[in-house]
Amino acid sequence: MTSITLPAREADVLLETDVVVCGGGPAGLGAALAAARTGASVVLLERYGFLGGNFTAAAVGTVCGLYVRSAPGSFDYAIGGVARAFVEELVARGKAIGPYPFKETAVLLYVPWAAKRLADHLVIEGPDSGNITLLLHALVSEVVVDPETGAVDGVVIASKQGPKVVRGRVVVDATGDADVAVAAGVPWIMGGPGERQFGSMQFFMQNVDIAAAMTAGLGALSEAIAEHGGHLTRDGGAVIPTFRGGEVIGAMIRLTRDGAPLDATDLFDLTYGELEGRRRAEEAEVFLKEYMPGFADAFLADTATQQGVRETRHIVGRYTLTGDEVRAQATFEDAVAVCAWPQEYHVSGRSTDYVFLPDGATYSIPFRVLLPSAGPPNLLVAGRCISADHHALASCRVMAPCMALGEAAGTAAALAVLDARETSSDRIVLGSVDPGAVRTELVARGAILP
Ligand SMILES: Cc1cc2nc3c(=O)[nH]c(=O)nc-3n(C[C@H](O)[C@H](O)[C@H](O)COP(=O)(O)OP(=O)(O)OC[C@H]3O[C@@H](n4cnc5c(N)ncnc54)[C@H](O)[C@@H]3O)c2cc1C
Repeated sequence: MTSITLPAREADVLLETDVVVCGGGPAGLGAALAAARTGASVVLLERYGFLGGNFTAAAVGTVCGLYVRSAPGSFDYAIGGVARAFVEELVARGKAIGPYPFKETAVLLYVPWAAKRLADHLVIEGPDSGNITLLLHALVSEVVVDPETGAVDGVVIASKQGPKVVRGRVVVDATGDADVAVAAGVPWIMGGPGERQFGSMQFFMQNVDIAAAMTAGLGALSEAIAEHGGHLTRDGGAVIPTFRGGEVIGAMIRLTRDGAPLDATDLFDLTYGELEGRRRAEEAEVFLKEYMPGFADAFLADTATQQGVRETRHIVGRYTLTGDEVRAQATFEDAVAVCAWPQEYHVSGRSTDYVFLPDGATYSIPFRVLLPSAGPPNLLVAGRCISADHHALASCRVMAPCMALGEAAGTAAALAVLDARETSSDRIVLGSVDPGAVRTELVARGAILP
């Protein structure tokens, strides 16, 4: 590939704040709400016209990782704090149901539209919204690093009016793909085939006879695929009711190119994924109408706003959580979140493999996985791009733990800013934040920690 040198440009400083949160998915929402609640001013930047990330844009349809099964048929919350408050509000609005048993665990079913509106409400009118400024259609494209201190001074937004800068004392990268950390020179990795999850395109079917479909159950879907669906990309999957009359979300497409997962940071692969996802959704529509009970009169209403991306870049952090530690139910002194979700692999062939923890078991996630091993001292990462190997991420990438990790990052960011204010310090070094203080604040706000 040839390259050219871009000319230097001036950019207006649009806003100055304590904490800049880049990305408004589960992790970014958790981070923004927690930082605001802890007393920092926050600017939340989201590239789309709405919040939620995969929660809404990819219409994943269930919240995973909220619960731990204490015994067959009996579930407790594994995760509290912002995630629990968020889903309980959805339930109170009649837009979610959980715990809903799924394999050896349970999920929460929700209406994506309702999650989108609840996120609006919390950020704009919620109890902590006074500290939050939201910018939508704000794609973070670059970072400004102070050459003397090596700290991030701000981020650059690609806007219709040209580049704009938002300055902040701390930056939280919750872009899912570690866009900000990579731009800031933080070391990162991305697994090759077999070490990177496949993405999927979810789709909405309407006019479904829900009672017939649910009576037949997911077993009927797998059997139909085994008998007639050799051309489909997965050997199972799910049709998930959204609570809107006759509507389900189809979760049965695996996006592959020549047998390999796409690189969802590559423009060509992203374009291919959207086109292929829509083609595969039509293929699934034809299949479901013919072979799945309840779908004879159904139709494909739409695909999700975007293909769902499970895994791209992870930062290399101060600590890297491993799959062995997940299975060993590791605990850490600086734990800032716990997780009970199984390792869920969308990797090879057409199947999806699960490795479950025993009933009642969780593992913990240390603060250090949010801290880059090198690069700006005032940058934190949260969500699916934390420092975890592929096998640990197979579990902790789901939405409830991502929200909890965001909450931890936002809390730590705000505590660091408040401390710097108190000591009149110019520099913020997140590696010096006391994880004990973060844990205390999280527990006071309802987090469940070991
Ligand atoms: C098909 C599929 C099905 C899944 N099913 C489930 C499920 O049923 N239950 C579950 O709990 N989890 C599920 N997951 C996993 C889960 O959705 C994700 O791992 C989780 O959403 C990750 O949260 P996040 O905030 O780290 O990232 P994301 O959800 O990816 O959010 C990142 C946010 O940052 C924004 N952003 C990205 N780059 C920039 C930028 N440069 N500037 C500004 N904004 C930016 C994005 O628009 C997005 O809003 C599924 C994932 C996929 C792909």
